[in-house]
Amino acid sequence: MAGRNGLFVPGPTNVPDRVLRSMVVPMEDHRSPKFPKLTLACLAGLKKVFKSETGTPFIFPSSGTGCWEAALTNCLCPGDTVLVARFGQFSHLWVDMCQRLGFEVQVLECEWGEGAPLDRYRHALEADTGRKIKAVLVTHNETATGVTSDVAGIRKSMDSVGHPALLFVDAVSSLGSIDFRMDEWKVDVCVSGSQKGLMLPAGLGLTCVSEKAMQARLETSKQPRCYFDYVDMLNQNKNGYFPYTPALPMLYGLKESLQAIEEEGLENIFKRHHYLAAGMRAAVQEGWGLKVCAKKPEWYSDTVTAVVVPEGIDAAKVIDRAFRRYNLSLGAGLSKVAGKVFRIGHLGDCNELMMLSAIGGAELAMLDCGVKIEPGSGVGAAQRWWRENEELASGTTGGM
Ligand SMILES: *Cc1c(COP(=O)(O)O)cnc(C)c1O
Repeated sequence: MAGRNGLFVPGPTNVPDRVLRSMVVPMEDHRSPKFPKLTLACLAGLKKVFKSETGTPFIFPSSGTGCWEAALTNCLCPGDTVLVARFGQFSHLWVDMCQRLGFEVQVLECEWGEGAPLDRYRHALEADTGRKIKAVLVTHNETATGVTSDVAGIRKSMDSVGHPALLFVDAVSSLGSIDFRMDEWKVDVCVSGSQKGLMLPAGLGLTCVSEKAMQARLETSKQPRCYFDYVDMLNQNKNGYFPYTPALPMLYGLKESLQAIEEEGLENIFKRHHYLAAGMRAAVQEGWGLKVCAKKPEWYSDTVTAVVVPEGIDAAKVIDRAFRRYNLSLGAGLSKVAGKVFRIGHLGDCNELMMLSAIGGAELAMLDCGVKIEPGSGVGAAQRWWRENEELASGTTGGM
């Protein structure tokens, strides 16, 4: 197949060439006196991305899911109650993990396409007079539906009723792409991974743990845990080492991606994501006349858009056509929204031209599958939006 694959799933995302090259390295002794420099650079860079001065970042050789497990098994005891909203496949999987690990799970069921229900979180916390809820869980960016939730608002809900529970946030598809503030929002554990906004292959679980959550870890010493123990990691990380063999090339990649993030500037990156996402939504809503899965503009995600296909069309067929005929990878509709939506990822290393190829390719595939849209309508709407809103561009997508 000639030409490049158009990779527009919301993870793994495109890895910049400089990051790819940085990972082609000979293996090294991870106990050498030279090694700590690499570890410590990665950990220091991560703190900036988490916006945390007081938290402790960890790098686990896992995907994001491993860090969910680490948060639950380090900071809680079996049988503890957790409060969590379910509004998409990823929040669902976190609920499922909590149940499988033996926690009492209080689930706030929401429609898919909605964001975290701040009032219902507050009511549940208010009603918990016995303070049985030990952790509040929220998925910052629900990748299945393209919904971003208000984590600062959840913190406000918790504080307004003076609830002492820990706050765990899944920021797998938002960290480094959508503003996230660990310290300011008093997040106790932030869970993320390498293959989305951090522009790396999958394989690193990236997490940050507050002082309060570390204290909880020390007080829950009866909970069995081993591979994901924060304390083992902390003891070795202090000196720049790991308790087991680290994924060396991935660490070099992480160092490079953190460097790229530093050069562009986090705030510019957030701006770029918002600007590209707004053009994408113009393509869907104004160009194609279709709906996005997110039910209200306040929840629109700047990293992924889930496009609802018209009644009678199977979104899975559109995705299959896009790949087979145009070498374009679109994200599938998961579980409840399977067949109803396809997703376009716009996070990480992206610019306008890449987005136009995704929009144009999705148009071709939809037309082939019988969706009644005008050829070029999405491309035109996105072009118009970007041209009319240049002041919102971060200035980081151009070649000069
Ligand atoms: C991708 C994703 C996950 C799962 O992460 P893995 O790295 O695949 O384990 C969890 N939550 C959200 C919101 C995601 O987007």
